[in-house]
Amino acid sequence: MIWPQLRTLWRLHRRGLLWGALVSLVLSVLLTLVWLAGRFESEKLQMQTDREASDAISDLRVGLNQNIRLLESIIPAQVNGTAWTLQAEALLRERREWLRLEWRDMGLRVVAAVNSPSSQPLTGRWSVEHLAAETQLACRQARRWGYATYSPSTYVAGEEGGGVEVVQMCLPWAQDGQAAGYLVASYALPEVLSQLISPSLYRGQQLSFVEADGTRLAMVGQMRDGRRIFVSQQLLGLPGSSLVLRVDSRRTGPDLFPNLLTAVVAALSLALLTVLALLGRDTRRRQKAEHELAEALAFRKAMEDSLVTGLRARDLQGRITYVNPAFCEMVGLLPETLLGSSNPPPYWPPEMITEYGRRQALRLAGNAPPREGIESVFMRHNGERFPVLIFEAPLIDANGTQTGWMSAILDISEQRRIEELSRASQERLQATARLASMGEMASLLSHELNQPLAAISSYANGSRNLLQDGQESDSPSLRRHLSEAVLRIAQQAERAGQVIKSVHDFVRRRAPSREWVRPRDLLDSVTPLVRLQGRKLLIDLQFNVPDDLPAVWCDQAMVEQVILNLTRNGMQAMDGLEPNNTGGRRLTLTMRIADGHNSNPQLVVEVTDLGCGIDPNVELNLYTPFFTTKEEGMGLGLSLCRTVVEQHGGQLIHRPHHPRGTVFSFTLPCRHTTEPREA
Ligand code: ADP
Repeated sequence: MIWPQLRTLWRLHRRGLLWGALVSLVLSVLLTLVWLAGRFESEKLQMQTDREASDAISDLRVGLNQNIRLLESIIPAQVNGTAWTLQAEALLRERREWLRLEWRDMGLRVVAAVNSPSSQPLTGRWSVEHLAAETQLACRQARRWGYATYSPSTYVAGEEGGGVEVVQMCLPWAQDGQAAGYLVASYALPEVLSQLISPSLYRGQQLSFVEADGTRLAMVGQMRDGRRIFVSQQLLGLPGSSLVLRVDSRRTGPDLFPNLLTAVVAALSLALLTVLALLGRDTRRRQKAEHELAEALAFRKAMEDSLVTGLRARDLQGRITYVNPAFCEMVGLLPETLLGSSNPPPYWPPEMITEYGRRQALRLAGNAPPREGIESVFMRHNGERFPVLIFEAPLIDANGTQTGWMSAILDISEQRRIEELSRASQERLQATARLASMGEMASLLSHELNQPLAAISSYANGSRNLLQDGQESDSPSLRRHLSEAVLRIAQQAERAGQVIKSVHDFVRRRAPSREWVRPRDLLDSVTPLVRLQGRKLLIDLQFNVPDDLPAVWCDQAMVEQVILNLTRNGMQAMDGLEPNNTGGRRLTLTMRIADGHNSNPQLVVEVTDLGCGIDPNVELNLYTPFFTTKEEGMGLGLSLCRTVVEQHGGQLIHRPHHPRGTVFSFTLPCRHTTEPREA
């Protein structure tokens, strides 16, 4: 039942739980370490106390044994009572732990006894009877065992209220192999502690003899300050009796960090925790960065996959290292086929391999392609060729080193098809516009042809009259007149032919082709037709076209049509105006080099009329196809003019002319004036 919940909890908070477990593990290790170190330190102090108790015990044993030997030195074998007393007094002065020395005979009667000079005030309380029982007990056992024996400790009350714990030691002595008596020494337990134990052992701690229930019998030393008391009890086993020695030592207990090692380990553990926390933070940051990177990668991939632009990366050896789905779709090949494909790649048309190879070699040699991209032709898997626009840029890695080239490839076949369609429809429109001008031309033609035809007719009539006048057919004057008339007839016929040819040239549909054309040639081609119209509308024409203008790069027929349209519009705008108005009826055609275009020189063609000007309402739709204010107009002229000029990289604009009329001007790119002018 609980497992699924635990599993869910684990899944949701896995990282937090892991971190929690890690931190608590480290903390518990740290706490255990501190606790163990504290315990170790305490045990060390306890052991020290135990050791000191053992040292005290061994001091006591040594002291007591020395005392037995001292006593043995005054065994009264050859001395009388007085001599022994002297010797005993000397010993008592030396050994302050003894309260009294007695010489007793085998019946335990006191032969001689000496009290310690240092415990005079206590003398009064010493009585043989008082300690008789202990003395008897000790001496009986001493006699049985044959060596010094001790009695249990006894409290001897003093006369002034004080008292002292006393232990009797009975040493049997013999003379000539026969037990001869006893030497009995009374030990005062406090002095035993203070005299027999090295003072260093009770400096700063208490040493005491205690009973089994903890009652202190004697005590020496003063405890120093400290937070903890360490206690050690050891048994001092003596023949016939035993005493418990207790050491009370007050010591400063171990600190939280009892020694340097623990402190170092604790500090290291804390440092470990800090490092873990920092690592955790670092991991979190890295995870965040990885997450963001993954998102960015996913976004980039989605972007690349949804792009219609083909992407291709090549290394410095020209091998393809990356293609996106759009590129694969474009060339109809799988990425596996394209990646790492050696030269030539499968999408190069076989007939272009040499040229493309040269281009690639140039690129790999470090020549950057133009920023506006290069047009090329690729081949689809089914062999179909299609135009592409390639933009290439160096592929720079994170260290700033170029590792190859990155290309964006646009399939421009659809664009080309639309351009072709638009070009064809433009051409058709232009042809239509030219045909529309035909009607106008026809009337012009009839007007213009009238003159040469009338001249031909009158020359012909004159010649016939000359012949009919009956002059001698071989008279030189007749022949001269006739020959002149025939020459004139021929000239007029040629003139009529010229007129018809210029109209024919204009109307004929020619394949568009661009070439370098001298502005003067442009003018010469349109002049006959402009003049035709000018004559009909009684308009004065003025051409300002210097001979040394640089050639322009254009389709001559199209530009001629633009000039014709503009001059025709200008002349029509003056039609109906009084000729004696300011400036008269004059149309000016000017060609000049535009100012301020030194790097990219432009030829400006200006057509200025002194007509009615352009009404603001008309101006709004001036370049809209089929917009016209004329009854017989088609409204295609200006829109076509603008298209043609823009196709040539120029601009068609208009502005009012003062005091009246309008200036239409357009530009065409031309050669630098320093270049040779010949096309
Ligand atoms: P269309 O000549 O067949 O009318 P255009 O496109 O050439 O077609 O001209 C459109 C209109 O622009 C003309 O009908 C005329 O009203 C006006 N327009 C063109 N050129 C001039 C000009 N030089 N002066 C005044 N109006 C003009």
